[in-house]
Amino acid sequence: MAGRVAVIRGDGIGPEVVDAALKVLEAMDVDLEFIHCAAGYALWKERGLQITSETLETLKSSDVILKGPTITPVGPASYRSVAVTIRQALNLYANVRPVKFREGVPAIHRQVDLVIVRENTEGLYAGEEAYMGNSAISTRIITRKASERIAKFAFELAKKQRRRKVTAVHKANILKATDGLFLEACREVAKNYPEIAFEDLLVDAAAMRLVMRPQELDVIVTTNMFGDILSDEAAGLVGGVGVAPSANIGERNAMFEPVHGAAPDIAGLGIANPTAMLLSASMMLDYLNMREKAKKLEKAVENVLRDRKKTTPDIGGKAKTMEMVEAIIDELEAL
Ligand code: ATP
Repeated sequence: MAGRVAVIRGDGIGPEVVDAALKVLEAMDVDLEFIHCAAGYALWKERGLQITSETLETLKSSDVILKGPTITPVGPASYRSVAVTIRQALNLYANVRPVKFREGVPAIHRQVDLVIVRENTEGLYAGEEAYMGNSAISTRIITRKASERIAKFAFELAKKQRRRKVTAVHKANILKATDGLFLEACREVAKNYPEIAFEDLLVDAAAMRLVMRPQELDVIVTTNMFGDILSDEAAGLVGGVGVAPSANIGERNAMFEPVHGAAPDIAGLGIANPTAMLLSASMMLDYLNMREKAKKLEKAVENVLRDRKKTTPDIGGKAKTMEMVEAIIDELEAL
């Protein structure tokens, strides 16, 4: 076997899109072993916890994780998000979210081809929150070590993908200590990459630039919460979260999941767009050094999107998830 893949099917539309991805990977005859692990809302209802220590051990010992979206109910009585728990437990510090226009998908902008690199382990996701009487406080932790690590990751990614510019997105004029430190770390790291342009942008200006002139953005590096918000905004420019993949990369482990959530409003209807999950699976194959297979999968998805005959309703089509999956498998066979 070329690799052991831990699979979390997730909640809501999770099982629908994960099963779609497994069906496609099976049709591609990939040399991978799949190990199913339970995590999320269904497990919490049954056993009072969203992820077990055995699952975390399986995830750590696998080569990669393929994860469907999981539900995190709102409010203090709820549990910590499964994705955030895994990212922190396995130190998956870099969240990589490519955002690209693909022909056939109804998009607000066509000139979009960028990557958001989001710091995944600290910031407002540090989990340090408390009530103080009628107030509530949240601690935003930013360390030099994590900031330098994510900045280096962004520049290395730019180099590998032959991209021309890295933009550090922050709010250092208001968050002088935390984002001041993040920006300083990015500036320091940028000095080691003279061949790649560097700029910084306030997060509000970045949000506007994404909408008005996204073609000016190439690699964005930013803190946890800003990255979360900007990546949904960026996905919205090119067809929405149903077509947006992501990778969570650490030193030893990596997890691939769609940007979208469990979408309870459409769960069980069989109309979830499998694109984000399939493109995440393509990123997984690339990470496992199965570059040709990764490219082939991306191409098959792109061909079906371009054709528009077998796409799901969220991007203007009439097909069911499995009809789109069948079309992608046909495409794979034809390529
Ligand atoms: P989270 O906080 O976990 O990101 P959310 O409720 O904010 O979850 P999503 O679950 O991503 O957001 O859903 C946002 C909208 O996008 C919903 O209307 C949902 O139906 C739609 N959506 C999300 N994923 C898909 C998909 N794969 N196919 C079609 N529509 C989707």
